Amino acid sequence: MKKKEKAVVVFSGGQDSTTCLFWALERFEEVEAVTFDYNQRHSLEIECAQNIAKELGVNHHILDMSLLNQLAPNALTRSDIAVADGEDGELPSTFVPGRNLLFLSFAGVLASQIGAKHIVTGVCETDFSGYPDCRDVFIKSLNVTLNLSMDQSFLIDTPLMWLNKEETWELADQLGAFDFVREKTLTCYNGIISDGCGDCPACNLRKKGLDDYVSRRKVLS
Ligand code: ZN
Repeated sequence: MKKKEKAVVVFSGGQDSTTCLFWALERFEEVEAVTFDYNQRHSLEIECAQNIAKELGVNHHILDMSLLNQLAPNALTRSDIAVADGEDGELPSTFVPGRNLLFLSFAGVLASQIGAKHIVTGVCETDFSGYPDCRDVFIKSLNVTLNLSMDQSFLIDTPLMWLNKEETWELADQLGAFDFVREKTLTCYNGIISDGCGDCPACNLRKKGLDDYVSRRKVLS
């Protein structure tokens, strides 16, 4: 039974947020998606998100967040900055300070406008690469702040918070979305859909999780 509630999913067209979209569609009667356009390296990311939302029949909002690029040029928004993992104790070059704070705040404003109680995000503390605003404690704190700021009772849902990449593939499979997520999502920093370039940090993480899950599934079947 689906809850007679409405949810807005923070949606990038990648593996994690697409899995969250399927998760929300299974749970809530009404689901809309929101994508933030901050001059991502690859406008293909927006196109990919649009295609997925269309295919799933989900109302899709694209909000202009180019100010983020103005505030914090980084490897996700500027092609002259290389994508690199952080050295010991350093954040990776893909880090945008306050990104989830801003995205979730704007998602909260949208949720208030469209009457959604739930805000769903694919943030994850397990593989969090050191991003402070992916941590559970931050999400809980922001949930309280959003509710106080708008006098609402939003619930921020984080279905992936404690999953590793292998378990995220498992969740997609349980939702009947394994092939869809594998073939139609874009995670690669080089803008290549599905299995990606196979070489960037995002592809490496995705592939390792996929391989681990596929081999575990073989053992189980
Ligand atoms: Zn890649």
